Amino acid sequence: MRRKLAAGNWKMNGLRADVAQVEALAQAFPDPGCDILICPPATLLAGFVPAGQGVVSLGGQDCHSATHGAHTGDVSAPMLADAGADYVILGHSERRADHGESSELVAQKVRAAHAAGLIAVVCVGETLAERDAGTTLDVVGAQLDGSLPDCVTAANTVIAYEPVWAIGTGRIPTLDQIAEVHDFLRARLADGAFAAHADGMRLLYGGSVKPDNAAEIFATANVDGALVGGASLKAADFGKIILAL
Ligand code: PGA
Repeated sequence: MRRKLAAGNWKMNGLRADVAQVEALAQAFPDPGCDILICPPATLLAGFVPAGQGVVSLGGQDCHSATHGAHTGDVSAPMLADAGADYVILGHSERRADHGESSELVAQKVRAAHAAGLIAVVCVGETLAERDAGTTLDVVGAQLDGSLPDCVTAANTVIAYEPVWAIGTGRIPTLDQIAEVHDFLRARLADGAFAAHADGMRLLYGGSVKPDNAAEIFATANVDGALVGGASLKAADFGKIILAL
């Protein structure tokens, strides 16, 4: 049985005062029936851990593949863990696009995350041009294969399917389209080196998940939760999404 996961990706949003959002979540769900994760900017991690009260897990939004060294502006996986993170998002399409991250680099980062004891949330997803060209499954399949090093297990890795064209746009795929990709990802995992972990691995959907569409998305087969951007910034909205899980 896969435990559902509601993950919030704050992206480059949030200041220390926003600790109130994490406190509100922890108070609203003292005994949640799913895992709750907030990935704030790295600057906020350590300060948010007490507010999460052990109910809301914290995560980073990226990490370097090295543990330390001359990498100005970067944050390493051990640093995230030291600040209280349990998870790290890797290979988000904004990182792949803005920073030219390849799946090969993402795989190195996943390895670094696992070495630091973090659970990796690995993102895959097609652009609109790729969907229109009918290559969605080829694209997400290649990203999946390329982004997962051999240390991946169901316990240390979560996959997030995030169609690039659905992120922050208010446009979501049809439920059939979501089901098609999630079924495909599960089958791809079952087919390859991760067969033993395919059943247990959580597959999240991400891209314009809101309180009013969460329930139908969560009812879709092989959807084990969501990676939520904009609607995770306010505890009231994110709380409604958690309730829909
Ligand atoms: P969104 O972002 O919910 O604002 O569309 C999702 C994400 O990029 O993780």
